[in-house]
Order: sequence, then C-alpha cells, then structure tokens
Amino acid sequence: MLFREVIGNEDLKKRLLSSIQEGRISHAQLFLGPEGCGNLPMALAYAQYLNCENRTPEDACGTCASCQKAQKFIHPDIHFTFPFIVAGDKKEDRREKCADWLPEWRQFLSENPYGNYQSWIRYSGNESKQGNINAKECHEIIHRLSFKTFESTYKILILWLPEFLEKEGNRLLKLIEEPPDNTVFLMVGHNPDRILNTILSRLQTVRFARLSDKDLASALEEKEGLTAASAQQIAILSNGNFSRAMELLHVADSGMTRELQQWLRWCNRPGRQEIFNWINDFVKQPKEQQKAFFNYGMHVGREVMLIQSGAQQLNRLTEGEIQLVTGLAKVLTPEATSQLIQLFDRYTYLIERNANSKIMMTQMSVTLMRLFRGVPASPLPAVFNDADM
Ligand SMILES: [Zn+2]
Repeated sequence: MLFREVIGNEDLKKRLLSSIQEGRISHAQLFLGPEGCGNLPMALAYAQYLNCENRTPEDACGTCASCQKAQKFIHPDIHFTFPFIVAGDKKEDRREKCADWLPEWRQFLSENPYGNYQSWIRYSGNESKQGNINAKECHEIIHRLSFKTFESTYKILILWLPEFLEKEGNRLLKLIEEPPDNTVFLMVGHNPDRILNTILSRLQTVRFARLSDKDLASALEEKEGLTAASAQQIAILSNGNFSRAMELLHVADSGMTRELQQWLRWCNRPGRQEIFNWINDFVKQPKEQQKAFFNYGMHVGREVMLIQSGAQQLNRLTEGEIQLVTGLAKVLTPEATSQLIQLFDRYTYLIERNANSKIMMTQMSVTLMRLFRGVPASPLPAVFNDADM
C-alpha cells in the first residue's frame, strides 16, 4: 500500500513521513482510531515505506523488489498478527496460528484493507465464534522476530487489533521493551480501554480521527467510480467509516429508497400478503445487505425527525428520499418517528448477532403497522432477548 492510496489523513501522513526521514522511528507504536478510519492501510503504507529501496520524500516507489512484495503482503520482513478462530479437528489440518491463515488474510487485505473485524471473521469462514490472538501466536511472534531480517533494513510486525490479546499478550512485554535492532511493532487498534494496560503503556500512540465526509466522498468517486451525488449520500450515511461505506455501496444502487418506501407503505395499508412475499425475498439477501438496509432506515428516520423539528435541509437528499421523508413526516408523530429509529437501531444490533431475520422482519412489520395506527411500540417480545441468540 502506498501513502497516496490511503484515504484522507493528509496531515498525519506528512507527520509520519517526516518522522521517518528524520530517523525518529519509534520501535513500538499504536495506530489508534475509530473503525474505518484507515489506520490499518496507514500501517501497511508505513511498513512498505520503511523498507522501500527507492523512497521519495512523499511516498514509497511502488516498483522496487521490496515494494512489490509488500504490496502482495508476502514481504519476508513484514509480519502479520490478527485475531482468528482456531479451526480443524485433526492434528494435520489444525489452523491455530496466524501463519495458517495467511492465504485468506492476504486475499482479504487486497480486496478490502478497510475491512473491520466482523468482515474479516466472516471472510475467514467462521462467524459463529469469537476470534482471539492466542498464546501460540504470541510464541510465534517472539520466534519470528528473533531472526535477523531476510532482505530489508527493518523487520516489522503489524499486529491488527491488540484488543484481542488476552493475558497471554504479557509474554510480548519484554520483546516490546527491548526489541532486536531495527524491529518495529505497529499495533493497529480502535479501543484503548480494551487493550492490556501493560502493553498500552509501552506503545507510542498515533491518533487517527474519523474520515471527513469530503475525503470519504472523493475516495468513493475515485476508487468506486460513484457520481458526486451518490458518493456524498453514502459519505453522510457512513459517518467517517470507510468500512461501513463499502457495505453500503453494495446496496446503494439497488433501489433501497424504493424498497423502504414500498415496505412502509404496505405497513401503512392493508396488504399483508405482499409484505410476507417481500420478507421472503428480503431474508435471502446477505446479512451485510440486510444490515445496510436497517442503517439506511435509521438515516431516513433521522431525516424525518429533522423535518418534524423544522431543522431539515432537504438539499442533502435525493428526489426519491425527499418524497419518502416528507411523506413519513406527515403520517408519523414525532414520538412514533423516534420509536421507528430505535427499532431500526435495535434490529441492526440483532442482525449482527445472527437473529432469525424472518421472525424479526415479521415482528418489525407488525410493530410498524401499529406505529402507523398510532399505537406505541410495545417492548420487544422475549424471542428477541439477547440470551436467546
Ligand atoms: Zn520501493
């Protein structure tokens, strides 16, 4: 990854570049920022730059032997550690350290370096369990970093999501404190409260902010070929999170506005058979798409609320959305709008936890019918308690 391929964060890039050029390379750093801000792509660019054979002041060359390997994530001196789920029952096909997951990891990075933890775990084919960075992997890190570099000046470990290092992480303390020469730890995380204090206190923190709507929108135009209007729309919805922007992108042109409008119409009028047919189709979509639909519903709900409070700027919306949002603002009371937003929020949460979409959508449709009739939404039935999932 080149620095110029990393979205936004221009000031930070300059700071990182000048620190390298001045030889101020801290051997243990934490690239800390919210999900989708691009701290992992920045770590990839930083590592590639450190080992590039023909650096310029602005970027790595992208063509030397070292850059070519770094770009394919096969550089022998750039190592990766990430959370994963131990797989395989038999000894010979057991996958219990990061090296066993490298083919999937490289593919994942090349397809979506902005991906988040959930998308990685899904990508690695096992959504049902919680990943971690286990004792065996910590042992591997110590082993890998004890060798001299193979072909470059720096030996770098990119450790993605140190939040998943449990107490075994303490095995790394000595190495972080007294690393072999020219060894650089780049940890990339989101939540300092969930990182072992013993590790956190030994890292130099580099802070990332959320991406601005402007940077995010221009990246969507450049990288994904979106029109300025759709890029802007997705940027606002994604709240500075490029990972979410990519999820939304898959549904952006699939008529989400129309689909939401149709569903809400059915809920507002008798037409139950249509609703059930629609739900049957809806639940066949991938989970990410369903989640994006609920995220979108929340966005629409917030816009309705803005109209009802007289603060709406309709120029942010497409024509179809203006029709939908102004229509809803007329039929829903402000209380019902607030409940609608809460419902979408709640169902986004449930869908992430693998709730049964069909039961959920049916229940939500019934609740919406009641909301439209002016009946307040009742508390969610027991079937939706977290304990049941
Ligand atoms: Zn190079």
